[in-house]
Amino acid sequence: MRLILLGPPGSGKGTQAQRLVQQYGIVQLSTGDMLRAAVAAQTPIGLKAKDIMAAGGLVPDEVVVGIIADRIEQPDAANGFILDGFPRTVPQAEALDALLKQKQMKLDAVIELRVNEGVLLERVERRAAETRARGEAVRADDTPEVLTKRLASYRDQTAPLIHYYSDHRMLATVDGMMPIEQVTEEIGRILAAVGKTGGNRAAKKASPAKRSAKAPGKTGPAKSAKKAAKKAPKATAPAKKAVKKSAKTARKAVKTTPKKASKASKKAARPAAKATRGTRKTSAKAAKKRAAR
Ligand code: AMP
Repeated sequence: MRLILLGPPGSGKGTQAQRLVQQYGIVQLSTGDMLRAAVAAQTPIGLKAKDIMAAGGLVPDEVVVGIIADRIEQPDAANGFILDGFPRTVPQAEALDALLKQKQMKLDAVIELRVNEGVLLERVERRAAETRARGEAVRADDTPEVLTKRLASYRDQTAPLIHYYSDHRMLATVDGMMPIEQVTEEIGRILAAVGKTGGNRAAKKASPAKRSAKAPGKTGPAKSAKKAAKKAPKATAPAKKAVKKSAKTARKAVKTTPKKASKASKKAARPAAKATRGTRKTSAKAAKKRAAR
């Protein structure tokens, strides 16, 4: 499974990515973590990125694209990956498309965690306090001043990706204001609707029909939801339920966000809706067959 988590700083991308790593056995690729490691190791990339990061700006596209191009080729990414913090600009997204095409890889979903900006400062401050309490070093950019700049970078350069991926019919939106557990469940439902089920917790929660759509623990190349549904016609009801729920959540999120975002959010449920159409067709066929018998 190959997935992008999209959202402003403090939206919970890192937390959800860690949970997905456990559930799906794939790796989390955080460009922020990689850049911080490069800064700590004082590599040429780190030296280039250090001041930009400390000021809340974005590291040049070619630098991060280069890092990701190398990273997705590593053996541990063969099962799939979650991109956390990448892409952050439209040129990065275009470069990623080209990279994946060249490597004959496909993205399964882009999930936007939508949150009200008002809570982000509070969340980031809490994260800094918790890090401090553990005796660990606090991120240099987790301060109210730098966060304001990081949010501006997100608004100006990253938020256009919401339209980019909704135009590409890849986007699903989750209300990131919900409790962590519920956000995880919602993401699980979206992934189930595109034919992906987690190997651990998600699989235990899923119905047998859902599990049959994708064998637990398997993280190999994606089958489309349509194909998966053909193999497991019984998946119709749970899949439909998942689609309905994610569409409902996306609609809910729209209510709390500016008008401009509503178009993108309506499209959010499209990949899921597509999955439902596939299962609907399959079950109609199955019903005909049964009637003929
Ligand atoms: P993060 O840990 O994702 O919040 O990233 C921390 C910082 O690293 C960001 O504020 C940027 O300065 C830099 N960074 C991380 N990912 C990217 C990216 N994809 N493009 C440009 N800069 C990035």
